[in-house]
Amino acid sequence: MKRPTVILRACPTYDVPMIRGIVRDALETLDLRPHGRTLVKPNCVASGHYFPHAFTRSEFLEGVFLALKDRATGAMTELALGERSGITMPTRYAFHGAGYYPVAERLGLKVHHFDEASQVEIKLNHPGRLRDSIYIPEPVARADFFVNCPKFKAHPWTTVTFSMKNYIGIQDDRHRLIDHDHRLHEKVRDLQFVLQPRLVAIDAITAGEGRMLTPKPFHLGMVILGDNQLAVDSVCCAILGLDPMTVEHLRLAFESGFGPVNLQEIEIIGDVSLADAQKRAVGFEKGLIRVEDYFQGSNIRAYAGPPPADGGHEYCWGGCPGSIEEAIEILRMYDDATDQKMPPVHVVFGAYKGPIPAKDGERVIFIGDCATWQGDIHGRNVQIASTYVDRSQKNPLEAKQPDIFSKMISMETLLWKARKEDVVRVTGCPVSVAEHVLALVRLGGLKNPYFDPNEIFRFTSAYLSTRTRNAIARLFGRPYNALSFDGRGDASQMPLGTLERST
Ligand code: SF4
Repeated sequence: MKRPTVILRACPTYDVPMIRGIVRDALETLDLRPHGRTLVKPNCVASGHYFPHAFTRSEFLEGVFLALKDRATGAMTELALGERSGITMPTRYAFHGAGYYPVAERLGLKVHHFDEASQVEIKLNHPGRLRDSIYIPEPVARADFFVNCPKFKAHPWTTVTFSMKNYIGIQDDRHRLIDHDHRLHEKVRDLQFVLQPRLVAIDAITAGEGRMLTPKPFHLGMVILGDNQLAVDSVCCAILGLDPMTVEHLRLAFESGFGPVNLQEIEIIGDVSLADAQKRAVGFEKGLIRVEDYFQGSNIRAYAGPPPADGGHEYCWGGCPGSIEEAIEILRMYDDATDQKMPPVHVVFGAYKGPIPAKDGERVIFIGDCATWQGDIHGRNVQIASTYVDRSQKNPLEAKQPDIFSKMISMETLLWKARKEDVVRVTGCPVSVAEHVLALVRLGGLKNPYFDPNEIFRFTSAYLSTRTRNAIARLFGRPYNALSFDGRGDASQMPLGTLERST
């Protein structure tokens, strides 16, 4: 049986013709011809001035699209770009900051903003799934030739983010937030059963190290391509000296039969050897730092106990603790004086049982529905009870779309009402990066990045555009489509194109 192929190519700069040639070569080597509805999904979690290394670059995408056109047959009916950017951020705003619209216009691409698309149900039946069906945007379900174009980055929740983790962006916020907690890795595995890409092309020219939203640039000078995304991600791990079986969603995908993690079972070709790629990556800073360690040396002191027992995790790697790490980095980037301005504050996650040595005047914030604690703060007995709702009680069809402006109002209201309290409770599962930003802004008297005069007009205009379009669409029966599609219980027979309708 043919081994999955991973291609490592040198590409020192974001030169569109060079990227086009590299991707066209890969399509020829892998004997792939785009056809039908061809959909390319980048990683555009955030973009623009404050997030310059968080997203797949527009030049990279342009090269990929041109190569797809070069190899297309007459049977290609649509060439499209689709993504859902970071939670509460309008995809239109992120696409604008990433420079995607001029590329789409030049190449005549269809653009799908997944936060404006109809959502369809995908039925799942594989063993160990978190739920029996999930919701994804219709353009993903209908894609015949899916191309995954992530950015090579570190990630605070999952160590790294390559192609499999990029699937989080095929869900809109209301569905993406469900199970985005201590069982995030299982969610990423479950999403794999929706569809597998024909081609993976990773932007590893300027990789992002350390974090996910505000990574530091790390020049790798490579494009990494392949026809099996578990094989591609395993090679990316090998480049960083990381055992793919230690990245939980990769281990779960392996156990579900999505492909190999053993390099002997992968054909690695290209003009960069694995050894050379490893040399290029020496010193790359990965993610996965516990919140207590992350804030060492700052005025924020963090404490974390275990999340709810389902899944058997000792720490919530997929939710609130990682969100506050990303939030503080956004604020540090926006305001150099963030750490000086922030007063001593204690933040508590999960079922923490240890002491909280808050001095007089220092506030204690319990974050997330699963936070519990009992003890003495400033001479007063404090009892924090869990408000966690089991995932079996969360119905995706009843999930509310989070709205950044209503989040601002509710966070402001909560903290204003608690302005004289030394103990504050912030609920949510997860409490998102945006909510952590808003809470820290208020607690520290910091500059609010959402009110950045250079961005607020574009942000608000994208927000209003998306809200208006969705409101109009709701009048005509969206956001849910009555269509239902079957995923696959058997990874060896994964759909590579349009799923089968089940209703
Ligand atoms: S409330 Fe936060 S920390 Fe607790 S399980 Fe949910 S996401 Fe994890």
